[in-house]
Parts: sequence; structure tokens; C-alpha cells
Amino acid sequence: MSISPQVFENTKVAFAAKTDGDLQQAKVLFTLMANNRLVELGSSLAISALQFHLPVAPLFRWTVYNHFCGGETFEECKKVIRQLEESNTGVLLNYGVELKETDEDFDKALAQNKEAVEFASGNKAVKAVCVKPTSYGRLALFEKIQQGTKLTKAEQKEFERVKERFDELCSYAASKNTALYIDAEESWIQDTLDAMVEELMSRYNRESCVVFNTFQLYRWDRLAYLQKQIDKAKTDGYLLGAKLVRGAYMEKERERATEKNYKSPIHANKQGVDEDFDKAVALCLENINAVYVCIASQSEQSNLNAMQMMEEKNMEPGNKRVVFSQLYGMGDNITFNQAKLGFNATKYLPYGPVKEVIPYLIRRAQENTSVAGQTGRELSLIKKELKRRKGC
Ligand SMILES: Cc1cc2nc3c(=O)[nH]c(=O)nc-3n(C[C@H](O)[C@H](O)[C@H](O)COP(=O)(O)OP(=O)(O)OC[C@H]3O[C@@H](n4cnc5c(N)ncnc54)[C@H](O)[C@@H]3O)c2cc1C
Repeated sequence: MSISPQVFENTKVAFAAKTDGDLQQAKVLFTLMANNRLVELGSSLAISALQFHLPVAPLFRWTVYNHFCGGETFEECKKVIRQLEESNTGVLLNYGVELKETDEDFDKALAQNKEAVEFASGNKAVKAVCVKPTSYGRLALFEKIQQGTKLTKAEQKEFERVKERFDELCSYAASKNTALYIDAEESWIQDTLDAMVEELMSRYNRESCVVFNTFQLYRWDRLAYLQKQIDKAKTDGYLLGAKLVRGAYMEKERERATEKNYKSPIHANKQGVDEDFDKAVALCLENINAVYVCIASQSEQSNLNAMQMMEEKNMEPGNKRVVFSQLYGMGDNITFNQAKLGFNATKYLPYGPVKEVIPYLIRRAQENTSVAGQTGRELSLIKKELKRRKGC
């Protein structure tokens, strides 16, 4: 097999599961999302509607929600999961509810994640459950710890409870043989999160790889951190789980660095990010005996590079230590062409009550206007496939 640079151009494979109606609907959606003003207006209207408890959920449900989410319940997700499985594609399940503040909410998130682990353990198409650390504890608490500020007795207790929640989840996932991908968040809390996840990896990744940390390669210090983590895992005798992403909070990171007058942790330009991403993939593949890696990106070039690197190293496409992933609703030309070639292709599939997932959907829409070229790329692929089907 030789992987051609044109591998992702095959729209017949990319959209095989979509009807003409599905494609027309997706075309309208991406056309609307390409309009900055409309997305801005829609986002603020949605936020106000939520604040005033206006019934906007059905509108979201039939537009963005169905395109980017699996469903409100596991039962509803099953249909999407089955469809993906038919195309040899797995799922990373993510409870899409964001930013909560109370212990009660955090305990609910734990219960929800344990249910997801239970569901995943009985469904071989679900490859992992994704967890957002700020659904387990307060951002301000993580920040305070990172700053080295002394915690009050109550805060110490609060942090103990956060660690207990993580431990309970990891222990449960280990008993169910299910992988957990812990998301990376803002740099001003990430050291706290990294320290927690490192401890969990050392505890639970002895026989199999249960816990994965996330490495944001838009940060210029993460390649060195990844190398350090590989060395540490080798020395301590556990497996490193590494989800590689570019990073979702670029604007916020830069704004804060300017406002507080410190050096931005983000690369000065995209080229630096792209280079580090590909180097991180290479580093993981070179150390594959100690690493399980998830290459989580919608970049065609990075996916192609990773696939070609595997080929050069004579690695089987389906090597169980290497998983690829794109967001559900995007990058289908990458996912399904990878799956067809036998790579471990997956979709990151959010689920949860429509109303609660709206902030995630707003982020998707905003990202689609701010990530140069992505919406255009999705649209042009959809148009290409519609044209192909008409035979012109
Ligand atoms: C399965 C999955 C899991 C994810 N989990 C997380 C997570 O845990 N934490 C997280 O933060 N993100 C996560 N993301 C989002 C991810 O970080 C990216 O925002 C998103 O995937 C877009 O990047 P890309 O690699 O797909 O490709 P591209 O579209 O090639 O890259 C876009 C990205 O490049 C970077 N970038 C763009 N322009 C510049 C510039 N001028 N200077 C510097 N950098 C620039 C930004 O990170 C931007 O998001 C996840 C994505 C996926 C698919």
C-alpha cells in the first residue's frame, strides 16, 4: 500500500452514509456558519434565550445539534454509533455539558461519566470516554493551586474531593477495560491538571492504557513536555496515553497574556504549531512501545503525514496503539477514507441535553468562522459530492 496525497479527495467514500437530503442540509448549515456576522448574532441570541429560558432548544436540535451531536441519551446515540460502525469508524464519547461550579454538578458529571464508561464497555465501537477536567472541579481552584497560593482548609478538602472523583472514574474505567481521554484546557490551570493526570497514568496504565492526557501543540513548550512524559513513563514503567491536539483556546490565551503582561504560551504563527504537531506525532510513533497515541486533528496534511510515517515504519494501519479522530460533523473526508484503508478512525461524539450542549455548539460555530478555510473546505467537499452524484 502506498498512501497517496489525494487520499482525502474521495468524496464518494467520505459521504457514503449521507443521503442527498443530508448533504443539502449540511450545505445550508456550513453556508450559514461561514457568515461571521450571522454566527455572532446567533450566538448572542442563543445565550440570551438560554438566560431567559426561552424555548430555543427545538431550533438548535434540528439545525446544529443533529449535525454535531449524537443525541440526548445513550439510546439516541446508538443509531449514530451503529452508522459509524458500519463504516469501520469508532467513537470517542463526550458528555457535552460545559463549565459547572458546584459540588453537586461535579458529582453529577462523575455519575454521568461512569454511565458512559458502562455504556462503552458494552459497545465495542466506543473506543474511549472523554472527560473535561473543569466538569470535576472549579477552574478558580485549579488556578489557585497552579499559582502556588496557599489553600484554605475548605479548599484543600475541595481539591481532595476533585482527586477522589478522578480516581473513582479511572478505577471504574480500568475495571471495565475502557480508555479515558482527559481534555486539556487553559494554560493557567493546565499544570494542576497535568500533575493529577500524571499520577493517574502512573497508577492505572500499568497493564493497559486506561488514562490519556492531552497535549496542545499550539503551545511552544509542549513538545519538550511530551518528551519528558515519554521518558518518565519509560523510567517508571507505565504506558503514556497521549492525545495530540493543536489547541482550542488560542484567542483567549493571547488576550490574557497581553492583559497580564507575560509571554504568550502560544506559538507566534500557525507554521510553528503545524511543525510541532507533526514532530509530536513522530515522537510518539518512534516510542510506540511506551505510548498509546490519539492523533486528534482535522488537518488533512497532519493526518496524511501521520499515515505516511506509519507506513514508513512498516506499522500496520490498524495498530491498536494509534487512533485518529475528528469531530463528528466535520472532516468526514479524512475519517472515512482512513477507515477504508484500515486505520483506527474515530469520531469525537458529544451527547447530552440540547439546552446544555448549546455552549459547545456555539464554540463549534465560532470556530468554524475563525478557523480560516475549514468551513470553505467542508462546503467545497459537500458541493463536489453533490455534483458527482448528479453525474456532472
Ligand atoms: C478529537 C478531538 C479532541 C480534541 N480535544 C481537545 C482538547 O482536549 N483540548 C483542546 O484545547 N482542544 C481540543 N480539540 C480541538 C483542537 O485543539 C483544535 O482546536 C481543532 O481540532 C482544530 O485544529 P486541527 O488540528 O484540527 O487543524 P487546523 O485547522 O489545521 O488548525 C487550527 C488550529 O491551529 C492553531 N492555529 C491557527 N492559527 C494559528 C496562529 N496564527 N498561530 C498559532 N496557532 C494557530 C489553533 O490551535 C487552531 O485551532 C480537540 C479536537 C479533536 C478533533
